[in-house]
Amino acid sequence: MIDETEFDFESRIVSTEASQEDGDVEINLRPKAFDEYIGQEKVKEMLKVYIEAAKGRGDSLDHVLLYGPPGLGKTTLSGIIANEMGVNFRVTSGPAIEKQGDLAAILTNLAPGDVLFIDEIHRLSRSIEEILYPAMEDYVLDIIIGKGPAARSIRVPLPKFTLIGATTRAGQLTTPLRDRFGVLLRLELYTHNELATIIKRSASLLEVEIDDEGAYEIASRSRGTPRIANRLLKRVRDYAQVKGDGKITLSIAQTALKALEIDELGLDNIDRKMLETIIKFYDGGPVGLETLAATIGEEAVTIEDVYEPYLMQIGFLSRTPRGRCVTRLAYEHLGLPYKGNTIQIKIDE
Ligand code: ADP
Repeated sequence: MIDETEFDFESRIVSTEASQEDGDVEINLRPKAFDEYIGQEKVKEMLKVYIEAAKGRGDSLDHVLLYGPPGLGKTTLSGIIANEMGVNFRVTSGPAIEKQGDLAAILTNLAPGDVLFIDEIHRLSRSIEEILYPAMEDYVLDIIIGKGPAARSIRVPLPKFTLIGATTRAGQLTTPLRDRFGVLLRLELYTHNELATIIKRSASLLEVEIDDEGAYEIASRSRGTPRIANRLLKRVRDYAQVKGDGKITLSIAQTALKALEIDELGLDNIDRKMLETIIKFYDGGPVGLETLAATIGEEAVTIEDVYEPYLMQIGFLSRTPRGRCVTRLAYEHLGLPYKGNTIQIKIDE
């Protein structure tokens, strides 16, 4: 059995989840208009058309479902949509809505056209989802008053609003809920160049001097994720301030990131240990997700949503019908001899 203390998930600097510390800075760095929102060109293009069309009709925007790994800008994009539509932006999340009454209160307080953003919408309970169906489709709230035989249902009209749901995977949503979204958009991991542009923009807002090479170095270790890029920028800034003259250059970025134990591909100790675990205990795979989760002491859904997207994007991990496999590239990166995994051997035979 693996010692779970080896995997310090909580304090992970390359975590895609927002941390307490990110809070205020994220709000300041958050783009407020489409032209400040870097990348995701296809998604922006489509949204601009839908927004213009809705505005032209004097109508509210259709309900939008945004999906993709955490930290890619779903909340930010939703705020921009509300800005562009010139309406209020209300934010809540699946786990925060515990009772039907919570959602009813939010819905009845909306003004016409408002954007209601529900983060982690796949975590809404079934009974709350049922309130959403008529609200999304017919803009009404069905409320049951009283109990037993005396119970009766009343319909309360709601203003026409736009629901924007965010989820890490569209497949986690129930079909009736997914079907009620008119627009489904998937956010992709960012390229190094896009992340470097984001880093330079954030640096100027934070009033930190940074050169192109320094920005690109941080970008290439940010796992395709703006949230991580901004977090690494802050850590490197601190380093530049204390160990240098405050300016972020290539060598300052390299030294700072080395001190943070983030390698040139953006992998940290947890990634390396996870890959090494699969290699050491399961001969590189295939290993089932649940088994892997139990071995390293992390939830399967976190492995799927947080660790795997990047490891798969850089070709270090593959998902096969029989489980996860570490690829030759990962062995080479870790400096371990590659013997081929069982699937490989079968194909070779
Ligand atoms: P999500 O809701 O997908 O978890 P957020 O919208 O909270 O992600 O984004 C995390 C941070 O990353 C934001 O504070 C913002 O500063 C930054 N960010 C995200 N997407 C972009 C982008 N396209 N351009 C610039 N900054 C971005």
